[in-house]
Amino acid sequence: VKVVVRVRPLSNGELGRGERNTVEVADDQRSLTVVDGMRQFNFDACLSPDTSQPEVMIKCGVPRLLDSALHGYAATIFAYGQTGSGKTFSMSGREELIERQGWAGGGGDDGIMTRSLAHIFAAVNRAGPGVKFRVKCTYLEIYNEAIYDLLSGDNERQLTERWEPQRGFYVPDLVTVDCSCLDDALAVVARGTRNRRVGSHELNKDSSRSHSMMTVHVESHASRDGVTMSKFGKVSFVDLAGSERLKSSKSEGSMVKETGNINRSLFMLGKVIAMLSDGEKNNHIPYRDSKLTKLLMDSLGGSSLALMIACCSPSSNHMEETLSTLHYATRARNIINRPSVMQDPTQALISNLRHEVELLKKENAVLRGQLGL
Ligand code: ADP
Ligand code: MG
Repeated sequence: VKVVVRVRPLSNGELGRGERNTVEVADDQRSLTVVDGMRQFNFDACLSPDTSQPEVMIKCGVPRLLDSALHGYAATIFAYGQTGSGKTFSMSGREELIERQGWAGGGGDDGIMTRSLAHIFAAVNRAGPGVKFRVKCTYLEIYNEAIYDLLSGDNERQLTERWEPQRGFYVPDLVTVDCSCLDDALAVVARGTRNRRVGSHELNKDSSRSHSMMTVHVESHASRDGVTMSKFGKVSFVDLAGSERLKSSKSEGSMVKETGNINRSLFMLGKVIAMLSDGEKNNHIPYRDSKLTKLLMDSLGGSSLALMIACCSPSSNHMEETLSTLHYATRARNIINRPSVMQDPTQALISNLRHEVELLKKENAVLRGQLGL
């Protein structure tokens, strides 16, 4: 799991109250220091407050991740951090704009989601005549251990996940929107964002207590010599609930009792990450203990490519939360995934056999040459 830390600028309010900046990002953008704690942390990248949204894409290696999805891999990008640390800003940009039109129009504030969709459709439109792409989107939210569809327009209907050996966990009843162009996909983002907001009023919840997950499925069908090869890539964008919810529970026992105000999914995610980063192979990893860890099962220690963007506030007032985020992110960095292409097994077999036939033909030609035939 690749981990990038993004430090947001001090807000006007924080500056007005005279709060100090406590996080220093090193010039090489590989490490940062929490000033008062005198502690240094190393990550795949550390992004200072002046990093622009387009720079975030590049420094997080998002285009490469998307290209992998286009080639049949599963990829997950998730934003972690306390409420107000910049998770939604990083993933979606400014919500007000997204809600209205899908994105800010390619301007400076667009987040990773809309920029990624633009990247995906640019690649799809460039594809040669032998390759057909199909792009489909889903958008869900997990709140209080219930899954809601952000695209169905029914904000109160709870959905259930299902398990299949081939697919892992998935949600069968999700609305899946076929997107034939970038505008279609941006409309999905706008609708999901709008419903997330509406839902938060109706159910007396807010986005700092819910996780949202948008998944873009990219199927490709390539024809060669009359045989079609299909690959099923996907990329999920996960905006996690505020990590300060974790603090209120030190033990799992007390957590279960207080499910009303503590986020079980976020707690279990922390536990799963801690266990995976310990690297003990025989440990039973409790993926099945929360909705979020079920749906992220493949992204953590599985066959996905994963990127965590740990968001931090630089303010002296939030130092404790920032340190806790950095420790969490450090653990996530120790997780090793084994990415693999998702392919139709029959087609994969054909492809392998075909490859073998090619090799045998070559070998045969060489042998025949040696025999002077
Ligand atoms: P979270 O989703 O983690 O609760 P938000 O993304 O909503 O936090 O960010 C809180 C506020 O800070 C928002 O008003 C957002 O626009 C602003 N903000 C966050 N990150 C940045 C940034 N890198 N540059 C400028 N403003 C930011
Ligand atoms: Mg948010």
